[in-house]
Amino acid sequence: MSRIASVLLPMPLPEAFDYAEPDGMALAVGDQVAAPLGPRLMRGVVVALREAAGGNRPLKPIDRRLDEPPLPANTLEFVQWAARYAVDAPGQPLAIALRGARAPRPKPARVARRTGAEPGRPTPARRRVLEAAAGRPLSPADLARAAGVSSGVVKGLVDEGVLEIVELAAEARFDQPDLTRPGSELNPSQAAAAGLLNEMLDEGGFNVALLDGVTGSGKTEVYLEAVAHALAADPAAQVLILLPEIALTQAVIGRVAARFGGQPGEWHSGVAPPARRRVWEAVAAGRCRIVVGARSALFLPFTGLRLIVVDEEHDGSFKQEEGFIYHARDLAVVRGKIESAAVLLASATPSLETLRNAETGRYRWLRLSARHGTAQLPEIELVDLRQSPPPPQSWLSPPLVEAMRETLARGEQTLLFLNRRGYAPLVLCKACGERMTAPDTDSWLVEHRYSGRLVCHLTGFSMPKPERCPHCGAQESLVSIGPGVERVEEEARQLFPEARIAVFSSDTVFDAREARRLVEAMAEGEIDILVATQAAAKGHNFPRLTLVGVVDADLGLRGGDLRAAERTFQLLAQATGRAGRHDRPGRALLQTYAPEHAVMQALQAQDRDAFVAAEMEEREFAKLPPFGRLAAVIASGPDGAQLEAFMREMARAAPNAAGVEVYGPADAPLSLVRGRRRKRFLVRADRGVDLSAYMATWRARVKPPNAVRLAIDIDPYSFL
Ligand SMILES: [Zn+2]
Repeated sequence: MSRIASVLLPMPLPEAFDYAEPDGMALAVGDQVAAPLGPRLMRGVVVALREAAGGNRPLKPIDRRLDEPPLPANTLEFVQWAARYAVDAPGQPLAIALRGARAPRPKPARVARRTGAEPGRPTPARRRVLEAAAGRPLSPADLARAAGVSSGVVKGLVDEGVLEIVELAAEARFDQPDLTRPGSELNPSQAAAAGLLNEMLDEGGFNVALLDGVTGSGKTEVYLEAVAHALAADPAAQVLILLPEIALTQAVIGRVAARFGGQPGEWHSGVAPPARRRVWEAVAAGRCRIVVGARSALFLPFTGLRLIVVDEEHDGSFKQEEGFIYHARDLAVVRGKIESAAVLLASATPSLETLRNAETGRYRWLRLSARHGTAQLPEIELVDLRQSPPPPQSWLSPPLVEAMRETLARGEQTLLFLNRRGYAPLVLCKACGERMTAPDTDSWLVEHRYSGRLVCHLTGFSMPKPERCPHCGAQESLVSIGPGVERVEEEARQLFPEARIAVFSSDTVFDAREARRLVEAMAEGEIDILVATQAAAKGHNFPRLTLVGVVDADLGLRGGDLRAAERTFQLLAQATGRAGRHDRPGRALLQTYAPEHAVMQALQAQDRDAFVAAEMEEREFAKLPPFGRLAAVIASGPDGAQLEAFMREMARAAPNAAGVEVYGPADAPLSLVRGRRRKRFLVRADRGVDLSAYMATWRARVKPPNAVRLAIDIDPYSFL
């Protein structure tokens, strides 16, 4: 009797395909195979095996089993769960899970090894080389460096047969965490939280805890102790630390390496493909025990996952908005459940969703009260821009400039925070009033002075800043409206020409190494004034930073979506929390036109609980998250009339269900992108409703025209 293998391919197909298992192949669920699809062979994963019933039409046979690690059953279950949740094809999350397996293999390392033969002439230099060769295997060049000798000394030993050069598979170079190293000294509040976490880990099984502590309270030290505890309890245990951004990944990798004396596995889009493959294989084999990564690290093939840490759990960057749409914090909880692992969510400003779960007892709630060491929370002042406006064409108010002057005079550092890249968010023609926009997209072009270009942040379109207005032809008529970080930097240079000033934004910091360099320069006191977007507002620890100036505290409140107030509070609390983290008291000045707004009042009073209580009340009244759930449908197409007709058809096809309301279709706020019209539905459901099932039913009832793209976003964070 032959068997049928269902093979899932990493492509947006609705289901797995059936193939015949060739005699003697003895496949197992999770195996990676090459299977024919049309004229090509595709990599896929066996998701089910069953006996073939007689009389079926003959199936194409699987070509071969790949000599690759199989996908563990739990990883496969997670992939399928994620697809169902997101109302998307299971091949989409599978593609993420196989990303490391499909990357090219790293080249084997060439290392020098002792043969056992003794050198004829044991000079001191040669002895140092042989001592160095007794440790970790090193390349000939690294060995010469470690011994402090020229490469000729190593070569001489190789020629003499005392050392030999061997190729070492890349896997052998993975550092194992040293669990005998002592951890940081914890204050009583940290120690209490660490104790409770260890108890939770000792209980075993699935559990979720919120580690809730103000910025600077030392959450990282606490969760590193939990990591140590989990790894020590079981030699096969693995730990995943998820971070919202690459820049933060770098900082935490440094902390992990210092704590455990070895590099953890690093996983994010900035890691080169061969290095990713190395991490993927080592995770699958259980050799890599700590992974620090961005959201897609959740899909790695862990075999012994015991703890997932989601650091800065409130951060919107955990939401993947393109391709396969998912929220890494929410899926981390699901992965924890599937793996029977503990999940630790850490934040100084937890999301309302997580706080609600903590309040109702679904999550354990560990609060860190004090700031670490002698540090105190900064004093927060609101600068009413109606009372103290900056001079014309300037953005820094007199009180903020005065505070910067005092800070500089004391030899301390200032962080100017503005969550806006580039020089100016808008360029318009003062002759005809035309606003410069991207072609076929209804968003403004942002002026970048470093590059001299106008850039669309949405599509990446850019063009040199024109000499004449493209609309009316007037010369030198284009004016820059409003500030971005580059413009604030220019103003700071004019005010303080002697100060050392740098900009931290995704335009000036291209990669992880550059981010680390800038963060180190700031930590070492080589920068007096750092002008930064949110990229620098989180997580970093700058001992000499005592003043934070928020250039436009109202910026985030203008969006008007569900989480506008929550996000503004979180971002500004993080930004102001950068000040005064060591022994020097800090100060934060928030420039605002709305000092009476609840967010500003709560920030000034440093009363997060009051802000959360007020915001929760509004959400509960409107039955919005966390008291209800949302989903969005976003459709786009080049033909407005066709899109309109399809959306009307879709509205008619919406299933009737108790506790579900459908709003729309409406034009999306971004109604035109790259020449495509965009329209949306918003769905609100009561908490008990299976929203994914509802959306799947709806989706199955319609067939969009070929030109129309349809995306479903469960628990949306963007409403554009
Ligand atoms: Zn013009």
